Amino acid sequence: MTPELMEEGARRREAMARREAEVKAMSGDRSAAYGRVLRAGIPDFAHGVALYLDDVTVSFDGFKALNALSLAVNVGELRCIIGPNGAGKTTMMDCITGKTKPDAGKISFGSNIDLLRLKEPDIAQIGIGRKFQKPTVYEPLTVFENLELALAADRRVRASLFSRLSGEQLDRIGAVLTRIHLKDQAQRTAGLLSHGQKQWLEIGMLLMQDPKLLLLDEPVAGMTDEETERTADLFLSLEGEHSLVVVEHDMKFVDLLTQGRKTVTVLHEGRVLAEGPLETVQNNPQVVEVYLGR
Ligand code: ADP
Ligand code: MG
Repeated sequence: MTPELMEEGARRREAMARREAEVKAMSGDRSAAYGRVLRAGIPDFAHGVALYLDDVTVSFDGFKALNALSLAVNVGELRCIIGPNGAGKTTMMDCITGKTKPDAGKISFGSNIDLLRLKEPDIAQIGIGRKFQKPTVYEPLTVFENLELALAADRRVRASLFSRLSGEQLDRIGAVLTRIHLKDQAQRTAGLLSHGQKQWLEIGMLLMQDPKLLLLDEPVAGMTDEETERTADLFLSLEGEHSLVVVEHDMKFVDLLTQGRKTVTVLHEGRVLAEGPLETVQNNPQVVEVYLGR
């Protein structure tokens, strides 16, 4: 055996061991969360609202990162949120996902679920997926294996964890691979993907869990123009089926996503400064002053 082959073998064994450990850890988390999820219930979207923030305030040592923020996102809506650095965009996502608990206000998922009563893992389990800015894929695993791992994190398919994938599961992975433009890279090691491809893979991993609401914080930062356009197409294809909240600085990307008509929310000093189509908010004198004119 050549040294290269031995090295490759060792790498694969290490990756497999890591993967098994990850899957075990994830299934452990799930069983712990399962009872709480049942108590949390199923979101009711009959009234058309996916996410509702009412008068949410968050203080850090007296400084209000969110200051009576109110916001509603409809079921199936793709909402873009813009605003200068420090406006509170990431803090808002931290509050929705349970990472930060507000001092005051209300956040609900559907018309019935009070998110402020739930812990972070429970919020993920009831269908809120979050994509952080930095991609966090499992680099030694293949693209396919990353999606398989994400599938295993879905409690509905837990029984099949260590068994072979069913036809339906293979179809689901195939559909996501097509959607994220990585079908021909399925057997490639994730660590070898481009930055943009890693971002898509992470979005694919979120999609494997079929979230009702997706939160995406600066998803095209560091992408090439072509990758940015493909990402816009991907998000547009998700609209309707999922609700999306996209925080982004790249106005070209926001324009691609909102197509001149969808609502854009401008955040400033922890509250909504303006809301409307991109062109309208871009011409709002207050918005120009705090953000776009600088
Ligand atoms: P954005 O994402 O819009 O750039 P952030 O939500 O990250 O803004 O931050 C809003 C404000 O809150 C900033 O002034 C930031 O410094 C402050 N902030 C955010 N998180 C913390 C924290 N954990 N402790 C103290 N201050 C924080
Ligand atoms: Mg931020």
